[in-house]
Amino acid sequence: MNFIPVHEPLLDGREKELLIECIETGWISSEGTAVKQFELRMADLTRRRFALAVSNGSTALDIAVKSLGLAKGSEVILPSFTIISCAAAIVRAGLVPVVVDCDPVTWNITADHVRQAITPKTGAIMAVHIYGLPVEMREMEALAREYGLKIVEDAAEAIGLECAGKPCGSFGDVSAFSFYANKLVTTGEGGMILTDDESIAERCSSLRNLCHMPGKRFHHEELGVNGRMGNLQAAVGCAQLERLEEFAQRRREIGAAYNDLFKDVAGVTLPCPATGYADNIYWVYGLVLDDEVPMDAEQMMAALREKGIGTRPFFWPVHEQPVFQKMGLFKNVSYPVSERLARRGLYIPSSLSLGKTELERVADSVKQILAEA
Ligand SMILES: *Cc1c(COP(=O)(O)O)cnc(C)c1O
Repeated sequence: MNFIPVHEPLLDGREKELLIECIETGWISSEGTAVKQFELRMADLTRRRFALAVSNGSTALDIAVKSLGLAKGSEVILPSFTIISCAAAIVRAGLVPVVVDCDPVTWNITADHVRQAITPKTGAIMAVHIYGLPVEMREMEALAREYGLKIVEDAAEAIGLECAGKPCGSFGDVSAFSFYANKLVTTGEGGMILTDDESIAERCSSLRNLCHMPGKRFHHEELGVNGRMGNLQAAVGCAQLERLEEFAQRRREIGAAYNDLFKDVAGVTLPCPATGYADNIYWVYGLVLDDEVPMDAEQMMAALREKGIGTRPFFWPVHEQPVFQKMGLFKNVSYPVSERLARRGLYIPSSLSLGKTELERVADSVKQILAEA
């Protein structure tokens, strides 16, 4: 039986055509016109004034956090249940990551979680949309206004998703996207920074390109990075964006199909399909094993692999990362929802190309493993 990978990109639109154009014209670096076009389309999609294409989502976060110019040692509140890139960006900017737990149903942070972690040193909130359902951003923005805090929105998993009728990527002071191969819109590797603030945009633009001094190339008052996106990536991005609606719809169909296939299955908790402010776009389809199931996510993943099905574990909490423990961060704290999700959560295949039979095979395999456990 053939292996069903957890994710495969769909590249059968105009990707090839636009790539050939880059090669035939010789425009392959970040100076090419596809980069500009991709930026304009992302700005349009998120209704932002400025969009800056970068080399990947982690770099987008690094630059976005630095661009806020927060005082050294300021605290930034973020979920523990997220990718390392979020906390790493905060640490690399000379700031202090302060993590909070998340909601057991939506797997996202709420304004209540954040409020309890605010101190006089808090400078910003990093709101991360998790697995296809957004943070309630209206509440987060109201909280930020109340305390005079900045917001960095990590919308890497939320392209095409709306929160209360507004596109993800349009919230807060600065937003970040990733176009890694498993994201809904991909350039292989790539990222984007979005903002409405001209001075943040200028800072990001400088940080992205080695901080050359304005009008004085090869002179530097500050250290930036080479975080530029190449024209080949941007060309793929333009072709992918043309199909965003179709991709989003297909993901939602896959989510609905799994919801149906798993609806009477005891032992697994499914993703929250909708909240009062958003409908899940099912960037990934997560399963959380109930406590009475006598196996953890790792064991379920191994059993599925034996049946030819690819999976990925959920995030491992930021506060449990050895790298931060070694720095003396997050000592003797516990965030039980994040810890439980990490140990009992996994996600199953949801490539856009998967058909009904493959989804059924995935669901049947999970059911069989649960029945035999
Ligand atoms: C994928 C992802 C990133 C990192 O993006 P890369 O392009 O892989 O560096 C950051 N944050 C979240 C929430 C992500 O899912």
